Amino acid sequence: MIDVLIIGAGPAGLSAAIYVERAGKHAVCLEEKMVGGQIVNTPEIANYPGIKKTSGFEFSMGLYEQATELGAEVEYERAAKIEKLAGDEEGFKVIAESGKEYEARTVIIATGAKNRHLGIDKEEEFTGRGISYCATCDGAFYKKKDVAVNGGGNTALEDALFLSNYCNKVYIIHRRDEFRGEPKNLEAVKKKENVEFVLNSTVIDLKGEKSVEAVTVKDKITGEEKDIPVSGLFIAIGQEPDNKGFMDVADLDPAGYVAADESCTTKTPGIFVAGDCRTKAVRQLTTAASDGAVAALAACAYIG
Ligand code: NAP
Repeated sequence: MIDVLIIGAGPAGLSAAIYVERAGKHAVCLEEKMVGGQIVNTPEIANYPGIKKTSGFEFSMGLYEQATELGAEVEYERAAKIEKLAGDEEGFKVIAESGKEYEARTVIIATGAKNRHLGIDKEEEFTGRGISYCATCDGAFYKKKDVAVNGGGNTALEDALFLSNYCNKVYIIHRRDEFRGEPKNLEAVKKKENVEFVLNSTVIDLKGEKSVEAVTVKDKITGEEKDIPVSGLFIAIGQEPDNKGFMDVADLDPAGYVAADESCTTKTPGIFVAGDCRTKAVRQLTTAASDGAVAALAACAYIG
């Protein structure tokens, strides 16, 4: 039986794996996509204490190597459900979407959060054909073209800045006229001559035959609707959790995050939670890594 099964190999999950292995127990991480989670797509990390500047990819690979060199394993599976073992046996069964089952003495849920979708017509159909949720991954396909970024957080501002270096023109469409992203990022975007702000506006429609040719935006104040011709729309409107499969063993808050405080414990003894998927006020790399350490040490203490 696995000592600690960790669902997710992002910064929280891999930090937990490092602490579990260093405590002399064995950790297995289940990861549905890529190690590193969302941070892998961030072009530059400059706010992790002790590291002046690095890329999300480099940071993720460092975490992965550190965890696996200590003995942790990563399996590429999507965890669908957690059940208590039947009868008197202590521990849990984690069932992957593929049908594969894992038995573990403790489980740490570290599933992070997923990109929020706009929920408009053709959004899914045009994903990969003009619709993208990752400027670092897909920006190079839009060299010298006109594109739009939707959102007002740090991701949207960083995406706009990144794309302004490649693209002919970048529209930044935001539903308010104040930005949630850091003033430093906003100032940097404002200095770019090829960035145009479309404020108090929402994207209501996508135009195009086989791929995006224009986005329709609606001004929330005047009610006016207009088409902006672009070949790409980068949607950067935040994240949402994906924890519904764990509702039997952990309470979720109204937004779908696993309800737990700084102790990272859930309502089920032996099930812990770490990182962005937990109810919390600040979702940052540092807080994800911190949760990973707390949850791992709690899991190791639980095993004894
Ligand atoms: P975020 O901070 O939650 O911002 C999401 C933005 O999208 C907000 O401006 C929000 O508008 C808008 N939005 C949300 N739902 C929308 C909808 N349905 N339609 C239109 N607009 C919508 O998300 P994020 O930018 O992805 O950042 C997530 C976290 O990661 C934050 O804590 C951020 O600071 C952090 N981050 C840090 C860095 C860095 O430090 N280098 C880089 C990227 C991200 P409102 O403002 O009106 O709510």
